Amino acid sequence: MTVRLRDGVEITLSDGTRVVCDADDPGGDVAVVTHAHGDHLPEGEATAVCSPLTAALGTARRDAPLGRVTDDRIDLLPAGHVAGSRVALVTDPDGTRYCYTGDVCLRARDYLDGFDPDTAGDVDVLVTEATYGDPGYAFPPHDEVVADALAWLDETDAPVLLFGYALGRAQTLQRLAARAGRRVLTTDAVLRVNDPITTHLDVAFDADEYDSHDLGPTDALVLPLTSARAGWIDRLRDATGALAAGFSGWAVDDSFRFRGNYDVTFPLSDHADFPALVSMVDALDPDRVYTQHGEAATLATRLTRRGYDATALRDGQSTLGEF
Ligand SMILES: [Zn+2]
Repeated sequence: MTVRLRDGVEITLSDGTRVVCDADDPGGDVAVVTHAHGDHLPEGEATAVCSPLTAALGTARRDAPLGRVTDDRIDLLPAGHVAGSRVALVTDPDGTRYCYTGDVCLRARDYLDGFDPDTAGDVDVLVTEATYGDPGYAFPPHDEVVADALAWLDETDAPVLLFGYALGRAQTLQRLAARAGRRVLTTDAVLRVNDPITTHLDVAFDADEYDSHDLGPTDALVLPLTSARAGWIDRLRDATGALAAGFSGWAVDDSFRFRGNYDVTFPLSDHADFPALVSMVDALDPDRVYTQHGEAATLATRLTRRGYDATALRDGQSTLGEF
């Protein structure tokens, strides 16, 4: 049996079945898509084991349908990362159980439940994300960050531009701005993501499409993180006096503020921080851990010191299991 990082993570079971998770071009026998962020979705028309909401979001966000199948060997649990996100539990015919997290968050926030490792049962092999897998990444309590952001929205007598990923953070920001009593405006890309979420979950977003009408002092414009340095944003800020706020786990580093040219930043994250990743591994107590993404090497080193058999997955390198 092998676990390897190629295009996505490929788990080869004892009977030769290849389970391919979060790949651009999933070959193999079974594809798994944990959630509808761009770097986890397949390109073009595809069929995968995923949640109904991820299938709907994947279809809405791309020009091709994402179909959904189920597989007796694969169970999905809420991953707590974004709407529709799942952790995949794969059971090998020989009984070995794999847990592939995709992106994961253990904290419950607003309309999302966090991933609860106690619901995963016995896990032999864990493949975990390590985006914030360095001890320097410890986020303040979520409610505290939300209270800080609400206080800032309340005391700011100017239009605000709120930057976050189109799926996940942008929905949180729309709801925050509405709670603060602001009119909420956003882009077509974000509205396209809102629609399937309101259809599948008991949640509403009260936002209008921004079509460059004037921004008033009580307006909040929610924008994708990637547009923070765009020229039209500079012109809009100059013309309206709008203040820009960036929302990301990276905000624990000062460089995030300078890179995005934000007036203010808040460490609001949809990922597990370092202490949460370690507590997740402790709760799952796997015989073997593979780390990927971000601080994969640091997390593997830390887990090894903690007594785990932990390895960072490297692109293209097969890792032979001993199960
Ligand atoms: Zn993600």
